[in-house]
Amino acid sequence: MASPDLFHDVSFSHVSAAASSPEATAGATAVFGGDASSGAPRLSLVWPGEPRAKHTLEIDLSDAQVFKLGPTEWLCVNGESEATDGVEEKSYSRAIKVVLRTEAESKAFYLAFQRWKQGVISGKAGEPLENGVIIASKSKFDTKIEASSAKMYFHYYGQLLHQQNMLQDFVRTGTYYAAVMENRSDFEGRVVVDVGAGSGILSLFAAQAGARHVYAVEASEMAEHAQRLISGNPSLGQRITVIKGKVEEVELPEKADILISEPMGTLLVNERMLESYVIARDRFLAPDGKMFPTTGRIHMAPFSDEYLYVEMANKALFWQQHNFFGVDLTPLHDSAFQGYFSQPVVDAFDPRLLVSPPMYHTLDFTSMKEEELYEIDIPLNFVASVGTRVHGLACWFDVLFNGSMVQRWLSTAPGSPTTHWYQLRCILSQPLYVMAGQEITGQLHLVAHSAQSYTIYLTMSAKMWGEGAEQGGILQTSTAKLELKEPYYRLSQPQPYVVQDQQQQQLPSLQPQGSGQQVQDGLSPSITVEPDQDSAAFTR
Ligand code: SAH
Repeated sequence: MASPDLFHDVSFSHVSAAASSPEATAGATAVFGGDASSGAPRLSLVWPGEPRAKHTLEIDLSDAQVFKLGPTEWLCVNGESEATDGVEEKSYSRAIKVVLRTEAESKAFYLAFQRWKQGVISGKAGEPLENGVIIASKSKFDTKIEASSAKMYFHYYGQLLHQQNMLQDFVRTGTYYAAVMENRSDFEGRVVVDVGAGSGILSLFAAQAGARHVYAVEASEMAEHAQRLISGNPSLGQRITVIKGKVEEVELPEKADILISEPMGTLLVNERMLESYVIARDRFLAPDGKMFPTTGRIHMAPFSDEYLYVEMANKALFWQQHNFFGVDLTPLHDSAFQGYFSQPVVDAFDPRLLVSPPMYHTLDFTSMKEEELYEIDIPLNFVASVGTRVHGLACWFDVLFNGSMVQRWLSTAPGSPTTHWYQLRCILSQPLYVMAGQEITGQLHLVAHSAQSYTIYLTMSAKMWGEGAEQGGILQTSTAKLELKEPYYRLSQPQPYVVQDQQQQQLPSLQPQGSGQQVQDGLSPSITVEPDQDSAAFTR
């Protein structure tokens, strides 16, 4: 059992309407500890005088919340049950303002509050964790996300094997490490919040780079593993506080100079964690604070892949059988066909399959509103480099760490060293035929849903070319509706890294469109996506 935390010379006052003694009591001692009989954590405020029982105020931490009022002032709100007509009702009838002597004590008071409260929440009153959580009545997360989805999501991330999978993605972890270490000045002496800390790896990187204090916020059970990893690295761990809870719900005792996070899912936006990252910015980041990563870009280009198309179409052939144990399966063929084509394909593909130079859509994490992620509308415009059949739209993303010293990109582009995100392709059940030089237009429309993912609406059209093209008529249009949450992981065969050959020479110069930026995105100057020496690999 941890020793109780003590704070001397505290003053407190009742602020709730029902309070009988609104005046402040000074010179009290605040003691965190477990109830002698039940072990339930509580906060006792004890002030001088006899008998002691009459000079003690007990706050049950199991349903208490704490809110910051000022640098040294906290409001403790405590639920008391009241019986009305024999029915038990909860009412937050008691609110006590607690004033500490110094800011340092104030911070320690908050952390002790959370630590002891956490003991209740995780049912381990006897051994409180070095972390805590505030449960708001219903947070932004809870109102948007279905409870069943969240449960599965945090169960997944609560398992070490999935954290290991991410840690072992050396492009990912190495690029984060490099981005932090090359920008020490952004971390040295600074307060950092790790948004969705997982195993705590990014918090440990930030501490290595000299952070004054890191708050590692993690909602899943992984918070406990993170605590162990951090405690096991004491020289860094003493500057890290693990807080178990959602970034939408926890309170931190101070503002952060920099946020670090790895909130990217497939197609950048899957999992809807970017919204949590933006909410964390609004809740925790000081004005002019930094964000690592700073911006993200979704890249898109039409592709041609006859093998993939035939593979997908063939999957539905099963339902073409007229005599399957005497049963005609064909009534379900169309639905099965639709079903397969509604799955975005996740794999690593050869960038030579791209039919035109890619374009991109930028998300600025430092300035965007959370609501802007609910619906993302991207107009598409490409010029085909070759005459071929277009089978759909290929997508990938990159993020920028806009450090004060070094700007570093983490890229998931085809042809770059493969990451655990691979790339994503949306297939059209009706391919388009295009000629070299022909314009391809359309729209990629992403609509968020409560299962932490998006429905993808894709429209692609081939514009008229040659004679009559000036009228801008559209020759063919093809549409697709896909579910980002249910991709087809097409990774059974090893994906060779193909050495580029003469085919690329057929292609005209392929600069990324709309690019006014200096920073290499790994896609210029040709359609061959070279691994970007600077941003991609960090292996040593
Ligand atoms: N930062 C770690 C883990 C990244 S995975 C690393 O880079 O290795 C994303 C993590 O964020 C998961 O562990 C997930 O449980 C957590 N997470 C997602 N949404 C969250 C939220 N709203 N609040 C707190 N943690 C969240």
